[in-house]
Amino acid sequence: MDASFLSNDFEDVVAADRTNVWHHMTQHKPYESSDPRIIVEGRGMRVWDQKGKEHLDCVSGGVWTVNVGYGRESIADAVRDQLVKMNYFAGSAGSIPGARFSERLLAKMPGMSRLYYCNSGSEANEKAFKMVRQLSHQRHGGKKSKILYRERDYHGTTIGTLSAGGQDERNAHYGPFAPGFVRVPHCLEYRSQYGEVSDYGARSVAAIEEVILREGPDTIGAICLEPVTAGGGVITPPEGYWEGVQELCRKYEILLHIDEVVCGIGRTGTWFGYQHYGVKPDMVSMAKGVASGYAAIACLATTEELFDAFKDNPDDPLNYFRDISTFGGCTAGPAAAIENMRIIEDEGLLENCTAMGARLMGNLAELKERHKVVGDVRGKGLFCGAELVADRDTREPADERKVQAVVADCMARGVIIGATNRSVPGFNNTLCFSPALIAKPDDIDHLTDTVDQALGKIFG
Ligand code: PLP
Repeated sequence: MDASFLSNDFEDVVAADRTNVWHHMTQHKPYESSDPRIIVEGRGMRVWDQKGKEHLDCVSGGVWTVNVGYGRESIADAVRDQLVKMNYFAGSAGSIPGARFSERLLAKMPGMSRLYYCNSGSEANEKAFKMVRQLSHQRHGGKKSKILYRERDYHGTTIGTLSAGGQDERNAHYGPFAPGFVRVPHCLEYRSQYGEVSDYGARSVAAIEEVILREGPDTIGAICLEPVTAGGGVITPPEGYWEGVQELCRKYEILLHIDEVVCGIGRTGTWFGYQHYGVKPDMVSMAKGVASGYAAIACLATTEELFDAFKDNPDDPLNYFRDISTFGGCTAGPAAAIENMRIIEDEGLLENCTAMGARLMGNLAELKERHKVVGDVRGKGLFCGAELVADRDTREPADERKVQAVVADCMARGVIIGATNRSVPGFNNTLCFSPALIAKPDDIDHLTDTVDQALGKIFG
């Protein structure tokens, strides 16, 4: 770390933050009396706070974002060069980085052929929802407009995306929501709704089909799913699940929208999470890892077939996607995203993610042997979780305060980990680990050694 850093006086910054900033997802009463943390510098997987304390960041910027790690000068240079040349023009016009990034990205997504730019994961999902609704009017007299979403999945923070929100703890008190969103059951085998069964994947697919038949297939336009559920509990799909979902989509002519906001761009060891399961989506939304947080960018990829549906009646003045996103015309995002992709390819980060993910899962399995509070470990690539239980036989979830105490203890030891959302019984008990794709074996071992110590301290 730069030596000048420690000579900085951050008291003013802390005071300004305390007085003026309304923080995300924060209960401000306890925050006011807590020790504030301002992250002032980052390099690789490490960040430093205003007191100069070093932390090993095992959550990639808190929310699975900084996939290529901190301090990447080549991304900063690419953004700077682009900004001084041409920073912005509305997305109805083209831009050099927008065109170039679309070419590179779509080459990694066989079957996908168009990219729509916007700013956030929520917005990318909203675009998909709007396309489904518009198609229902253009093709089905407004009828095939419902969108299925799954319990425990999260698709964003707007009222539209919360209407498709499967985490009740996030939705409470924000209704009324938009009509036409219908929930299907979660697919976490460890918390099976069907008892102990050998065909949990098939049961989960059958449960979706029941909802389709109940609602009427001719009313369902799309299903929106995370490939691996992130904040809802790091839920990896059971055997046969995705094949079954794909089959339902074909059978009932339902569009498949995959929300890759977390899994996209390498998090699970492939460019996209869905690519593990051989499915062919109609729409793919992505955001966080697209430029690793060096610039704000989100996109929705679609098939050519879907794109064509918005130009098949040129005489109709409403027959095009009448949508805009002011900052979808910023060029910093695609400029950063091109360099982000180059780094992932040139440094072999997908391969590293797979190897380090396997190491992390192996270490977590050992923790499960050593601590009876660890009920289940799940993950794909560098996207892993450990579910904590009070009792292994009954699978009663561990006390939420103790789960948070493990997170706090790791933080005190200089390792940042996450946990699933608070305040909903049964699903607030999973520790989350998502280091940057550059993680080395020592980082992974240090992470799990620290969690080992914290579990020992909090749960004995
Ligand atoms: N989809 C998933 C799976 C997410 O986890 C998130 C955010 O955490 C979003 C969508 C929303 O993205 P954003 O916060 O960029 O709007």
